[in-house]
Amino acid sequence: MKKLMAANWKMYKTRAEAKATAEDLLTKIEGKLPADREVVIAAPYTALETVGSVLAGNADCHLSAENLYPKAEGAFTGEISPAMLKDVGCVYSLAGHSERRAIIGETDELVGDKVAFGLENGLSMILCIGETIDERKAGEVQKVIDEQLEAGLKNVASDFAPETVVVAYEPVWAIGTGEVAGEGEIVEAHGFVREKLKKLFPEKANEIRILYGGSVKPANCAQIIALDNVDGVLVGGASLDAESFSQIALA
Ligand code: 13P
Repeated sequence: MKKLMAANWKMYKTRAEAKATAEDLLTKIEGKLPADREVVIAAPYTALETVGSVLAGNADCHLSAENLYPKAEGAFTGEISPAMLKDVGCVYSLAGHSERRAIIGETDELVGDKVAFGLENGLSMILCIGETIDERKAGEVQKVIDEQLEAGLKNVASDFAPETVVVAYEPVWAIGTGEVAGEGEIVEAHGFVREKLKKLFPEKANEIRILYGGSVKPANCAQIIALDNVDGVLVGGASLDAESFSQIALA
């Protein structure tokens, strides 16, 4: 199972900026990426084709969307289908990032539809889950993980290839705050995720990658990916700079 080192550029970078960062990143990691690593860049829609061209033909670095709409086509103004994403080179898409849940108001149900529809249409899906600080203080971490996984994976057809489903555990209070979750908190949460995956998909659970996200930096990445049940990272702020993300990818 390859560790997945994923960048999430969120709403940053024009096409020129995205091209320069992607090219710089490839130069820095070329020939150095360990055989058991895969790199993914999730870029904003307008930069996907540009970044896709830079990554084209690279066996270890793949393009991801940050979102998709779970319909093939139709009157869905402002939305983008899996076929459109594949057309510009996407291999992956995120679904259910906490910013989309909190700011755009995405429900667990919609997130579940996105995961299932993306998979059915040939994308690998990175389902993002994680509790808020209030939920953690209320002792609800396990409950939130359970509910978000249950709903997020509810409609997934049982014949999926395990490497095409990825869960990113991103505690909301650790995103963009510089406050990385403690090692004990990460191990505990990832353990819950693995146990829940075993209940949902007993035969595949051990091959489904579980990423940690939330204030991952070059200085803390190596310790985080060495933890039990941590199969990679999903990085926001520190992925915007090629030097810092190359250090993470190679950590
Ligand atoms: P930061 O790495 O900036 O905390 O963001 C994490 C994240 O939201 C990745 O999806």
